[in-house]
Amino acid sequence: MPRKEKNALLRRLPAVDEVLRWPEIGGLFGVYSRGVIVEAVRKVLAEVRDALLQGETQDLGREALVRRVDDACRPRLRRVINATGVVLHTNLGRAVLSEGAQRAVIGAAGGYSNLEFDLTTGKRGERYSLVTELLCRLTGAEAALVVNNNAAAVLLALSTLAPGREVIVSRGQLVEIGGSFRIPDVMRQSGAMLVEVGTTNKTHLQDYAGAINEQTALLLHVHMSNYRIIGFTHEVQVAELAALGREHGLPLMSDLGSGSLINLGRFGLPHEPTVQETVAAGADVVTFSGDKLLGGPQAGIILGQRDYIDRMKKNPLTRAVRIDKLTLAALEATLREYLDPEGALKRIPTLRMLIRPLGEIRATADRVAADLTGALGAEARVWVEEGVSQVGGGALPTAAPATVLVCVKFAGVGESDLLRRLQQADPPVVARAERGAVVMDLRTVDEAEVPLLIRAFEDVVLEALHACIKRHREG
Ligand SMILES: *Cc1c(COP(=O)(O)O)cnc(C)c1O
Repeated sequence: MPRKEKNALLRRLPAVDEVLRWPEIGGLFGVYSRGVIVEAVRKVLAEVRDALLQGETQDLGREALVRRVDDACRPRLRRVINATGVVLHTNLGRAVLSEGAQRAVIGAAGGYSNLEFDLTTGKRGERYSLVTELLCRLTGAEAALVVNNNAAAVLLALSTLAPGREVIVSRGQLVEIGGSFRIPDVMRQSGAMLVEVGTTNKTHLQDYAGAINEQTALLLHVHMSNYRIIGFTHEVQVAELAALGREHGLPLMSDLGSGSLINLGRFGLPHEPTVQETVAAGADVVTFSGDKLLGGPQAGIILGQRDYIDRMKKNPLTRAVRIDKLTLAALEATLREYLDPEGALKRIPTLRMLIRPLGEIRATADRVAADLTGALGAEARVWVEEGVSQVGGGALPTAAPATVLVCVKFAGVGESDLLRRLQQADPPVVARAERGAVVMDLRTVDEAEVPLLIRAFEDVVLEALHACIKRHREG
């Protein structure tokens, strides 16, 4: 762009005060504070100025600027539509809370609570005690403790039970969970020494037995989480390990990862030992996440024999990884749902989406496809096909529940461009690009979100078409 033309454009850029007086901006004052709006206007004008100086073309129309200011005002953490079909999508916040849990969070957030106050004695109480009874009742465990997440639970347990001493683990279970949680690294951090036994594909009871010596503090069993070794394989079951531990006076800890309280086998999902089964099999300490298959808030749940749990409570790390009151409120409400397991399957969104009947997903998919066809016109090709969903979050990695996909191809707009624009829509829609189309798995899209999904598509497609026409005009 010639310098003269660039300067003319820069001069056309309005001042912050001027933008703040535009009537279209006025509506924002009812939603955001003045400080937030002023910041947003400054940011947008600075971005436009920089882009112009770089020689990029910018839409200086009032409508475009107002839209950018509106965007810049929004909180950064936003509700999105998960059209990936991955139920426990770690990058999208894992479990969606039940309505009961949402209400509990709001209740705890807006006022004081008896978080660490015993209402009968008027003395100081323990925050964990609000959920330990429920946890023990639901799982059969003797005692319980809750912390910030399962990674913290594993770290706390190891650093309490095995500092400076040896922990025996099967080579096949030295897993990396993602987000840099690696069992050997956590072990090092805890001060415990890792003793690997067996081979990648096969570990036998004798391998553990042969590694036990006077330095041994703990036997550790780790759920393989997001991967499976198939073929010529063997891992020792929790019950056998627990028996071996008892013989030698050593505790057995099981890091269950997902930790489900309901056996989902009857819904065609692979059977995995439930938390109750693991406790009953004799594990002395069991840890699992609050926001995986349990379907609650981010938390790390530790179950076990009372003396082990009491020792963990005295560890100074417990204070550093403690659970906060909003999480505790959500966790208590989620656990209460499990007192009625059939009700939990309906009310806990994670469980509801996992076992969602194919016919119901198909009905949503058909509706989305019909609405999109109507909204997008002849330029779009929209079709429905069968596919498979993923559970995500390292849970049930071999599960491949059948689902129904809605695929969209748009003349003139590439699928990755369309995908990127959908991510920036309001609300953002997260989907996949595959075989030249945008592909949406409707398992994780709620009926109530359908109109929002359609509107996001309409906005995005209109915008993409405008950009396309503009490019044509400009040559
Ligand atoms: C997911 C997982 C973790 C980490 O749990 P977070 O709650 O994400 O901290 C640890 N161990 C296993 C086996 C897991 O699957």
